[in-house]
Amino acid sequence: MSTVDVPLGPIAARCATHPEEAASGTCSRCGTFFCDGCVKRVFDKEWCSACAARPEVNYLERLRLKLWGRRDSAAWMFGAFSLVLAAFTIRALLLRRLFWPLTLLMGACAVVSMAFFLGKRWARESLIVTTLSCGGAFLMRGLQGPAFVFLISGFSATLFYFNTRNRLFFQQPVSTLRLQRLWHAIENNPLARSAMNLGLASVLFPLFAPFAVIFGVVGLMRVNPQATPPIGRKGQAIAGLVLGLLMTALWGLFVWTFIAANVDKDS
Ligand SMILES: [Zn+2]
Ligand SMILES: [Zn+2]
Repeated sequence: MSTVDVPLGPIAARCATHPEEAASGTCSRCGTFFCDGCVKRVFDKEWCSACAARPEVNYLERLRLKLWGRRDSAAWMFGAFSLVLAAFTIRALLLRRLFWPLTLLMGACAVVSMAFFLGKRWARESLIVTTLSCGGAFLMRGLQGPAFVFLISGFSATLFYFNTRNRLFFQQPVSTLRLQRLWHAIENNPLARSAMNLGLASVLFPLFAPFAVIFGVVGLMRVNPQATPPIGRKGQAIAGLVLGLLMTALWGLFVWTFIAANVDKDS
């Protein structure tokens, strides 16, 4: 064996993929050495290529892909709205009691609502325009009831236009910050949030109290700010747990006093 290959100083770490390159760091997950060419940065941490591609590391990308093109509640709502409008349009056509441009506008709303349900991108803006015009037209004819329905629909369509979840359904680009907020809202320890809601509900409905305690305990065990993704909502888990325990005790005491009082009366 030749002695030439043996380094004399401290052994320099090498990139796991490129042995000819000196390592510039180690992966946050598996500890593999990587060079400057291999390192992947996700959420201010450094990873090897294999780990960076893992769903739990790039959890926002995973969430984006999961909801990409997937119908949300807004789409279902406007799908149902479309059917109702179609029925009213047909009725108006048959009875001929409605001013014809209104019938036409209502028919257009039905078509655009259906296109929105089907995920046609042009329907995003068209839905706002048609519903608001329809609302305005009904208002001008003095029909406040339908006008109100169309104006509310137009207002909702405008809100959904900027909604992250709805943008993902229409496969529109969404910023990392917006994805982060959506992830926090739907995937960051939902059990802990339920625990708090159940705890609050148990103030009036004692049957929820044991569930608040169970959800609180499990939610609390899941909290891990150091994990990827970081799991939070510790406060909500504790609130649910404490409220659940407190309400079990209070309601227990209440029932016990009630029974005791009646037993005294009988004897
Ligand atoms: Zn790794
Ligand atoms: Zn490398």
